[in-house]
Amino acid sequence: MSEVLSFDTLKEQVADGTIDTVLVCLVDMQGRLMGKRFHAGHFVNGAYEETHCCNYLLATDLEMGTPDGYASTSWEGGYGDYVMKPDLSTLRPLPWLEGTAMVLCDVLDHHSHAEVPHSPRAILKKQVQRLKDMGYDAMMATELEFFLFEKSFDEIRKDQWRDLEPISGYNEDYHILQTTKEEHVMRPLRNHLWNAGLPVENSKGEAEAGQEELNIKYAPAMDTAEFHTIAKHATKEIAWQQGHAVTFLPKWHHEKVGSSSHVHQSLWQDGKPVFFDENDPLTMSPLMKSYMAGLLKYAPDYTYFMAPYINSYKRFMKGTFAPTRIIWSVDNRTAGYRLCGNGSKAVRVECRIPGSDMNPYLAMAAMLAAGIAGIEEGLELQAPATGDVYQGDSGMIPNRLADARHTLHGSAMLRAAMGDDVVDHYVRAAEVEIEEFERVVTDWEVARGFERA
Ligand code: ADP
Repeated sequence: MSEVLSFDTLKEQVADGTIDTVLVCLVDMQGRLMGKRFHAGHFVNGAYEETHCCNYLLATDLEMGTPDGYASTSWEGGYGDYVMKPDLSTLRPLPWLEGTAMVLCDVLDHHSHAEVPHSPRAILKKQVQRLKDMGYDAMMATELEFFLFEKSFDEIRKDQWRDLEPISGYNEDYHILQTTKEEHVMRPLRNHLWNAGLPVENSKGEAEAGQEELNIKYAPAMDTAEFHTIAKHATKEIAWQQGHAVTFLPKWHHEKVGSSSHVHQSLWQDGKPVFFDENDPLTMSPLMKSYMAGLLKYAPDYTYFMAPYINSYKRFMKGTFAPTRIIWSVDNRTAGYRLCGNGSKAVRVECRIPGSDMNPYLAMAAMLAAGIAGIEEGLELQAPATGDVYQGDSGMIPNRLADARHTLHGSAMLRAAMGDDVVDHYVRAAEVEIEEFERVVTDWEVARGFERA
């Protein structure tokens, strides 16, 4: 990535008092930033070399529990340390926090200093490198959809997440008037991210009351994952600063449309797009067709990485713009995979399956692994579907977390591409979610059966 803040500039800014705090972060399994807030003086004096964290950070759940069953990390193993090694090429200011910069870390084994294989950054780096070894670069973009609410996170939590009121009263898809009313959140979000070095394209209202979308320009896959992670984090912090809450839950209410995170993808070679072929009727190169055939063939294998929680699967509903089938189509928003930009060098595939809760490092790594498999196997792409793709029942997306856990567990392709240890780690993460959901009594069960059962 082109450098946003060099270490030398950081040192100068620390010396003149512009920066006093450096957030030293890793990206966890859920795609969140975890780490420590360093005094910037201490960071530039030596802590930039490395710091440490408890190794449960890559074996925990959304609530920071310590579930058992992970080979890498356990009570038995004593929950020791990982090394957090700052990757200084990721240094950037965070303009929405006063005097603050941040850096992302590689996560290393405490003793061997080898990269921890199930760390999300390591997982994506590995697939990007495989592609590089074949002579290609992955250019990707992720869309971020979320809901903005009237009240703050703290008020909503104290109200037990009941009676949630989105910030607007009606569907605000492309709506300029309604989104003007949200500019106290969205304008600082766009501007602060831009000033942090993220190539923000735009934000827009989405197809439900209170729903927003943020678009960031496509970039090499590692940068895209970083942009997504920082943008999602910033969205929560800036909304919080303005007294509001946001949610990236894919389906916060069963009667509302869900939130997605579509992933646009194209391969490039020596700075030129190689998905484009002017002689093909749809301007798709043979390489693009094999890549897409791999994406489609292996979609059940990597559904878990696009939909990692129980709630993720409630989004896949007909007639909501969320897909239900593993099928591709030309500029058609009812299909899981949409051909975009055909007729131009920007020809690309948009995968519409991931929810707003995906970890971009994991989802993009899995898609690249599938695309690489498609190229290596020389797969043929079936003809595109047409019309309302919701009609029909072939190629359904696994529609429960348990099904996606099963297909992930059985994926020879992902085991070969990522390693058994990595796949087994995330299979366990899926099981933890399922076990917890099955243990807990939900509001729905109580309301339905309390009197009537
Ligand atoms: P949509 O109709 O889905 O809103 P956009 O034109 O807004 O389409 O583009 C969506 C995303 O696709 C943007 O983030 C953009 O940067 C990205 N994109 C554009 N060209 C490419 C490409 N060649 N490869 C990957 N992503 C791309």
